[in-house]
Amino acid sequence: MFRKSNKLDHVFYDIRGPVYEKAQELEMQGYKIIKLNIGNPAPHGLDAPDEIIHDVIINLRNAQGYCDSKGLFAARKAVMHYTQLKSIKDVTIDDIYIGNGVSELIMMSMQALLNNGDEILVPSPDYPLWTCSINLSGGKAVHYVCDEESNWYPDLADIEKKITSKTKGIVVINPNNPTGAVYPSDLLHKIAEIAVKHKLIVFSDEIYDKILYDDTSHTSIAALNDDTLFVTMGGMSKNYRAAGFRAGWLILSGDKKHAGSYIEGLNLLSSMRLCSNVPSQFAIQTALGGYQSINELVLPNGRLRKQRDYVWQRLNEIEGISCVKPKGAFYAFPKIDVKKFNIKSDEKFVLDFLAQQRVLLVHGTGFNLATPDHFRIVFLPIVEELTLALDRLELFLKEYQGE
Ligand code: PLP
Repeated sequence: MFRKSNKLDHVFYDIRGPVYEKAQELEMQGYKIIKLNIGNPAPHGLDAPDEIIHDVIINLRNAQGYCDSKGLFAARKAVMHYTQLKSIKDVTIDDIYIGNGVSELIMMSMQALLNNGDEILVPSPDYPLWTCSINLSGGKAVHYVCDEESNWYPDLADIEKKITSKTKGIVVINPNNPTGAVYPSDLLHKIAEIAVKHKLIVFSDEIYDKILYDDTSHTSIAALNDDTLFVTMGGMSKNYRAAGFRAGWLILSGDKKHAGSYIEGLNLLSSMRLCSNVPSQFAIQTALGGYQSINELVLPNGRLRKQRDYVWQRLNEIEGISCVKPKGAFYAFPKIDVKKFNIKSDEKFVLDFLAQQRVLLVHGTGFNLATPDHFRIVFLPIVEELTLALDRLELFLKEYQGE
């Protein structure tokens, strides 16, 4: 009788979907599950820097009231300075919006833009919130291929092929979740040129821009071009390990002259939710301006780097699994030989592994990959726990027969 809205018919968020619910059910029965499904650093002993926690605590009294809808001045100013470090030109305080995590800003950025049937180009695989938010806003997510054979880089020909008169924008996730790819500047240049040629807004999700391995550097696509509108997003959840604080930012740059109406839409949606969580906004200036402790974790002897190396190497040693080396973020996205294991549904594969070995992964189709031949593994846990999980995967695959 009380039915959910039809607007949710094409909205799927499998990271916390049926596979996750099954894991919760097993936990309720008393089983201990190794959870390699969510990019949430703190439960793995990767605490946020003390100075950030301290700033939130001492400012709690000042954080009782609503603030400006776009966010606290000091927080937005800190983000503005950050855009200067990233060489994104002509960003003023007015171009910055603070949100309850990048999640809220992704949803607002789509709701403010899309009419029914408008299309947005989204990578495949993607971080599925982009696809969900587009579909929920009445738009259509059109997936472009990221090519595993070329380090999971976006396929430019596929992007061009999928542009229609209804395409309004293109999403770039760099560093990428779920593949760990980090895109070189020349590739980003070409994506920006395509966007300019077809008058597309570029939405760049850069929430992992400081989690980089092997001397990889990060370029913001918005630094490379001014001839269309760029909407760049970042936040506290990953670089600063404060996912529960729910703090992120959205930056407008480039051709703002032709974006007045869209900006009005963003302003309206910002004011409708009054403001973003205030206590955590006090941490933003300290985070961006303070000592960057993430650097220690990604250095050759750093914890995240060691975990990345271990997972990547172990996965490639398992017969029937191959994995491109992640260059950023904290996920690996290996390929499974579906013929060898007779796999038709990657979700079933993940559920079977969970039921038998009590390890939780997420299936690749949950990231809008077209073929059921991948899974995502989070490498935030310490090596001892990852060892246990990968030993179990190896054991499981020795016998696994699929369907
Ligand atoms: N964008 C990407 C690529 C993510 O991986 C995530 C979270 O996993 C988000 C956005 C959402 O982050 P937030 O915690 O800021 O809402």
